[in-house]
Amino acid sequence: MSYMEKRLIDFLPETRGVMKPNYNLRDINWLKVGGNAEVFFCPEDTDDLRYLLKKKPENVQITVIGAGSNILIRDGGVKGIVICFGDWFKKIHNSGENFEVGAATSCRELAKSAAKAGVGGLEFLYAIPGSVGGALKMNAGCFGFEMKDVFVEAEGMNVNSLMKWFGKDDLKFTYRKCQPPKDCIFTRIWVKGSCGDSSLIEENMQKFEEQRRRSHPSGVFTCGSLFKNPPEEKAWKLIEKSGCKNMKCGGASLSEVHCNFLVNDGSATSNDIESLIETIKSKVLAVTGVNLELELVIIGERQLIN
Ligand SMILES: Cc1cc2nc3c(=O)[nH]c(=O)nc-3n(C[C@H](O)[C@H](O)[C@H](O)COP(=O)(O)OP(=O)(O)OC[C@H]3O[C@@H](n4cnc5c(N)ncnc54)[C@H](O)[C@@H]3O)c2cc1C
Repeated sequence: MSYMEKRLIDFLPETRGVMKPNYNLRDINWLKVGGNAEVFFCPEDTDDLRYLLKKKPENVQITVIGAGSNILIRDGGVKGIVICFGDWFKKIHNSGENFEVGAATSCRELAKSAAKAGVGGLEFLYAIPGSVGGALKMNAGCFGFEMKDVFVEAEGMNVNSLMKWFGKDDLKFTYRKCQPPKDCIFTRIWVKGSCGDSSLIEENMQKFEEQRRRSHPSGVFTCGSLFKNPPEEKAWKLIEKSGCKNMKCGGASLSEVHCNFLVNDGSATSNDIESLIETIKSKVLAVTGVNLELELVIIGERQLIN
């Protein structure tokens, strides 16, 4: 009998980390929407992850979620195994200008650590709310810096448990994207800054934070920038020009502070959010001729899994 005919969890090996069937993902993403993971797995450490990946049935879908600050999880939930890293993957080791961090380390904690050690160049990470693993996958950046500028090497595992190491050339960084081999799960990342003065570095971080406070909405359920900035013009300008600024769908709307930020008032479903995205995209295309590309990553199923 295949796992499709029984519960997936019955076909998975016993692990040391937390594994739960039908686990609701709403609370682990910033938009606060979405259905259940068929199986949710928080590995105890890398060996535990490798064990699960080695022993799982073939063709089980694997999805990794970092801090959930750039994903929309559909209401129908996510098939297969959703992996979310816990504390073991949040360690930071520092040697001179180099940092080795677990993939779940928050970008903010890494920036704080670097400042404390008198290492500059990582201040921009203080303004990014995700994990370092997510920031690497997204080539996250702000204030003129991107993850690729500080990236040295990453350790990753594929869905068949094979470990691999990646340098800068392997990941083919572009704007808000890197291209690891399909299904690669980053587990450890090495980044490098440059020696500096701790108090100046702290000052920079506070400056970035202050700029953020002035130009971005805070205290709301959001995913940051919804669309990538196309070469023609900033996405928010195109949205404004196309008359989409005040558009709403159910509990989903665009922020009054920054119209490229989508906001959930607490009552939105992921369907509301996707409908709003589609309406904005087609209106912007019709008015300006620009086909906006999502920065937000959408995962999961539109229909409910039984
Ligand atoms: C208020 C706010 C402000 C923001 N400002 C910025 C900004 O200035 N600049 C910017 O670039 N982004 C910004 N973002 C978006 C977001 O913070 C970044 O994209 C961040 O890097 C995503 O990290 P995450 O851990 O939350 O990833 P998630 O949202 O959990 O996942 C994003 C993608 O990364 C993949 N992923 C996550 N972890 C791993 C891993 N270990 N291995 C492989 N793939 C993985 C996921 O599968 C998914 O495809 C903002 C978001 C918010 C809510």
